[in-house]
Amino acid sequence: MIMGIRVAIAGPRGRMGSEAVRTIMEESGMELVAALDYKEIGNNLNELGMFPEHYEIPIYTDLKMLIEATAPDVFLDLTTPQSVYEHTITALKRGVRVVIGTTGFTAEQLHDVEQLAKTQRTGALIVPNFAIGAILLMKFSKMAAEYLPDVEIIELHHDRKLDAPSGTAVKTAQLITEVRESHKQGHPDEHETMAGARGANFDGIPIHSVRLPGLVAHQTVLFGGEGQLLTIKHDSFDRKSFMSGVTLSIRKVMEMNHLLYGLEELL
Ligand code: NAP
Repeated sequence: MIMGIRVAIAGPRGRMGSEAVRTIMEESGMELVAALDYKEIGNNLNELGMFPEHYEIPIYTDLKMLIEATAPDVFLDLTTPQSVYEHTITALKRGVRVVIGTTGFTAEQLHDVEQLAKTQRTGALIVPNFAIGAILLMKFSKMAAEYLPDVEIIELHHDRKLDAPSGTAVKTAQLITEVRESHKQGHPDEHETMAGARGANFDGIPIHSVRLPGLVAHQTVLFGGEGQLLTIKHDSFDRKSFMSGVTLSIRKVMEMNHLLYGLEELL
């Protein structure tokens, strides 16, 4: 009997993680073999009272033990910026492919993961945004920046998000810098009378972060030109918007032996 891709998931109680548990349990060609939590919350997902009885998935608090006991093909992380780096390194060192949805990696950490994936010849996908619409927004932004190089990014998220700016905003800015000549925007003599008024600065591109209850994940990219403004906007209203990207990433990482940052090259 073919059981499909063996997936382990970290953060199963979280807003993203719980949605991903349900998605993987329903997905054909995939099998959820284990969950990783850092709290002693029970031995099995079906004990948590948030999943159906037939979700008989063992919970581990130690990733090394999880890997030894359940031999996952792919480790999916949907936790926090504090724990994701260590999880990623632990999995890759043991030859387990990773799909990382948790945001907040530093440039240095990304570099480490890239090197480790290369030496281990193990697939790694770090995906700041799984929503297909958000990936298209990034692609369209890169296209637009070639012609309208004065850009500002506004990202809006729920008020429980830990990192700012969002991984999507940083990735969008990175893609734009591939086609936009580095330059400072705004008036050459502008100064802030209140710190932070002009937002974070990514190679001259201001990034503004909004955190409010009620929001999920939203981003607007503004391109200003002589007498015109182009606005590209994407909204995730529900975490379901991320799930087709999660399953796509799990399938794609099975064919990879290196790190890829973002899904846009795979679309
Ligand atoms: P959340 O609801 O706070 O979920 C995070 C979960 O991880 C919580 O249940 C938390 O438990 C648990 N956790 C914390 N440390 C852990 C550890 N060491 N091991 C196992 N579990 C641990 O957050 P969320 O909204 O689901 O977001 C999770 C991550 O995904 C964030 O980094 C967010 O930015 C990112 N995200 C990515 C995308 C994307 O498309 N890539 C989309 C949305 C969100 P406690 O609450 O008990 O601490």
